[in-house]
Amino acid sequence: MSFALLGLIDALLRNLQALKYQTPTPVQTKAIPAVLGGKDVMAAAQTGTGKTAGFALPLLQRLVQSGPPVASNRVRVLVLVPTRELAEQVLQSFVEYGQGLDVRLMTAYGGVSINPQMMKLRKGVDVLVATPGRLLDLHRQNAVRFDQVQTLVLDEADRMLDLGFSRELDAVFAALPAQRQTLLFSATFTDDIRTMAASILRSPVNISVSQPNATASKIKQWVVTVDKKDKPELFLHLVAENKWDHALVFVKTREGVEYLAAMMEREGYAVDTIHGDKPQPARLRALERFKSGNVRLLVATDVAARGLDIDDLPLVINVDLPIVAQDYVHRIGRTGRAGASGVAVSLVCADEAPQLAAIEALIQQTLPREEEPGFEAEHRVPQTSATRQIIKKPKKPKKPKVLQAASGAAVPGQKPRQQGAGNKRNANGRVAAAGKGTGSSRAKPSATQKPGGKPAGKPGSGPRKPVGKGRSAPGKRPA
Ligand code: AMP
Repeated sequence: MSFALLGLIDALLRNLQALKYQTPTPVQTKAIPAVLGGKDVMAAAQTGTGKTAGFALPLLQRLVQSGPPVASNRVRVLVLVPTRELAEQVLQSFVEYGQGLDVRLMTAYGGVSINPQMMKLRKGVDVLVATPGRLLDLHRQNAVRFDQVQTLVLDEADRMLDLGFSRELDAVFAALPAQRQTLLFSATFTDDIRTMAASILRSPVNISVSQPNATASKIKQWVVTVDKKDKPELFLHLVAENKWDHALVFVKTREGVEYLAAMMEREGYAVDTIHGDKPQPARLRALERFKSGNVRLLVATDVAARGLDIDDLPLVINVDLPIVAQDYVHRIGRTGRAGASGVAVSLVCADEAPQLAAIEALIQQTLPREEEPGFEAEHRVPQTSATRQIIKKPKKPKKPKVLQAASGAAVPGQKPRQQGAGNKRNANGRVAAAGKGTGSSRAKPSATQKPGGKPAGKPGSGPRKPVGKGRSAPGKRPA
């Protein structure tokens, strides 16, 4: 199959050639002819499948081939997205695919001044990529009118509902012309999405290029179990030990993101952050620096989980698991895009067993587990499985009846404590029995190959290497 056979015009084919796209992806093969034919589409497409080109290419073609030029304060194609980052990224795709075409494109999202957006809309735009809240603000102020809208695209529809945009979406649907084309793209298909689809789509072409809730098959995933308080230090250790050089790192809270980034910066890593407290220009700058390679670790909350397209991203690290299982699919979908292979590693503590079980049920696989010598969890993570069961909650290891003497020497007659179970780790991640300062030497064989070809937990790998300047992370702060 070639793009030419899908009926795309020469101008678009030239741009695809310049981008080195040789063959259409499965979602493109199905979506492009349907969209060109004016049909409604409902697509369950895994993230990274090329869905943006699946709608942008045929819509650009329809724009240049048909319809009156756009009038003042009017829009011809309206693309709704959940986040500002995705808005910029989708716009960028339209720009690349539409090089040389006479089309006006713009984004509109909150968190930045509304006035430049109102000014830009005065001349009318062919494609407006917007987040729902700002779009409604603009509409209420008559800066944008919908009577010329010929196509509505909902990109990452499930995410928009997750983020609570359902009322805004209903308000937009009510204001749009009834006669229009509607394309709905969603990585996952919940009941809410199906209900919405039923109310806004007309005899849609259904496209499903993979199991809707599956993760990209080329992504190698595993879990490292650890105590919550040890996560930052384990993260630092893993990055140094495995020479992880370019990774997107997810942390639950904004404070946690800043904490981890500051720790890594102190250790000499080039790090930046993306989270909801950061102004939009700073978020976009961080993304650009990460994409260009000036920043090697990008630490983010789930705001960054969807839509970000970063070429050749080999690794996603979940320092915390997401609350919503579907976000796991989106997070790790940042790697392994467009057929490339990728790796996703999650640091999981005992509290996160329910989230892990929900993720395994969603992706229908039990994730392989590892322990990092010296970071073994004292609070063991209960066994989980793809049946969503938490199989067994293991008992906490019993505290020794007789405490170790202050010198660190075991009290005669007492069973020695298991290494890693409660032993203090020094600033370099070495495990030291209290007062002794010795490195952990327990290493377990592992078949898992990490990026760079280094086996995890290599047998006989001995004491861990020092990492950086050696500041220990406070135990109480969340990662
Ligand atoms: P998307 O799922 O739309 O975010 O696209 C994921 C990535 O795949 C982006 O980097 C696109 O540039 C790339 N891509 C999309 N379609 C193709 C194609 N037919 N051939 C090669 N790369 C593609």
